[in-house]
Amino acid sequence: MKKKKKKKPKITTLKNKLWKIFSLYIRIRDCIRTTDNPERGYCISCGKLYPIKKLQAGHFMAGRHNSNLFYERGCHAQCVKCNVFLAGNILDYIDSIIKLYGKKIINELRKNETKRLKFTVKYLEDKIKLYTRKTKKLLDDYKERVK
Ligand SMILES: [Zn+2]
Repeated sequence: MKKKKKKKPKITTLKNKLWKIFSLYIRIRDCIRTTDNPERGYCISCGKLYPIKKLQAGHFMAGRHNSNLFYERGCHAQCVKCNVFLAGNILDYIDSIIKLYGKKIINELRKNETKRLKFTVKYLEDKIKLYTRKTKKLLDDYKERVK
């Protein structure tokens, strides 16, 4: 019998799991914020309307190992064209987040960019719990409103 493939390190698995739930949270949050409907929303950069399935969670700063990766104020629902083909469509992205949070957001994200975050099992598990809860709350509140 063939030996089983070596298991991926737990951190990677947890990080992927967290990304899945974090990304869903971001997209639902922004759909509800922009259209009051969890099934569609506007792209943070080009401002076009998309169904949630066509939206991605796009970072303003795309660091993979720093504090911006799972930072809510640096990640927003974005269409594939802006996120992937226009590399974030950053100029329009800036306008939108300044409107949302004020100018201080730029320094806030810049500071995060320099902070290396060590993703421990505990950190990732806590965040998975947090965003599972927050996503459920968004949807529960929505259902309550449209009842
Ligand atoms: Zn777009």
